[in-house]
Amino acid sequence: MPKLLNHPFCSIWPTISDPAAMRRLSDDIKTNGLLDSITIFEGKILDGKNRYEACHFLGIEPEFSQFKGTQFEALAFCYSKNAARRHSTIEEQVESLDKFTKHFNKGALSSGDHEGGLMDSSESIRESNSKTLHSCRASDIAEENEANGGGGVTPPPPPPPLSPSKAAKVLGTSATVIKDARRRIRKKEAAAKENFVDYTGFDVPQELRPLWVRRYEIEDIRKALAHFETVYSEAKQEKDLLWSIVGQEFQNAVKSAHQALSASRVYCVCPTCEGKNYRKCNHCRGRGFLNPGNWKACPPEVKAKRQQ
Ligand SMILES: [Zn+2]
Repeated sequence: MPKLLNHPFCSIWPTISDPAAMRRLSDDIKTNGLLDSITIFEGKILDGKNRYEACHFLGIEPEFSQFKGTQFEALAFCYSKNAARRHSTIEEQVESLDKFTKHFNKGALSSGDHEGGLMDSSESIRESNSKTLHSCRASDIAEENEANGGGGVTPPPPPPPLSPSKAAKVLGTSATVIKDARRRIRKKEAAAKENFVDYTGFDVPQELRPLWVRRYEIEDIRKALAHFETVYSEAKQEKDLLWSIVGQEFQNAVKSAHQALSASRVYCVCPTCEGKNYRKCNHCRGRGFLNPGNWKACPPEVKAKRQQ
């Protein structure tokens, strides 16, 4: 019996990688038997890949059930199984849902009753497992796979993720929560994709990377302060009553805050310590980074060395 592959829907969820956890699962199956059968769809494992691995390891032939339904229904089934099983943060849920919906084919999503009904669909699947799951044997799956020329239909190109309101319906939360979670996910992805090369083309050392990715925090506040300075000087010119009692000392305070922040800007890895033992370095004042002004003030030979 050749080993079964995981269906793309099922691959969205992590496989148990901790050997101790896998051993616990194997022990449980050895003692109590396989309580839930392995669900097969399109000749591949839709649900139960860890249990399948454990059975394979134990040399037990697992019980299988064939999922009968559309791709959308299979996806919703897989989602409801896994979402119910895991205690995950809202970000993890949104992330997995978005990855999930990417596997829908366009047809399944655009047909009205499916698009609006992801929740209804997974609900009804939960209730009608007996209707959609048909017990089957390993040899049946092998036969079917052969008939399908290897089994498994590759899903067509992905549609965009569900709208915030639909995703909210699936996860039982509000559209605002979904939007916020997606924003945080995008930020995290951007940070992960960020190539750790400073503005002079120097590789940012591992230890300084967490600081490097946060440099926008300073930039954002600098922008806000610069914005205030513009607004305030215009208001003063126009003798705008709204701003009339904001005194000069406030403007001066903003100006000096702006300057202090400029010193904190992160532009490049310090050429003196090169980010090693930076806490003791005077040039970068123990931060490992120079701001644009510091870099500008570096002697030409230092800059030339960096260009090599
Ligand atoms: Zn330094």
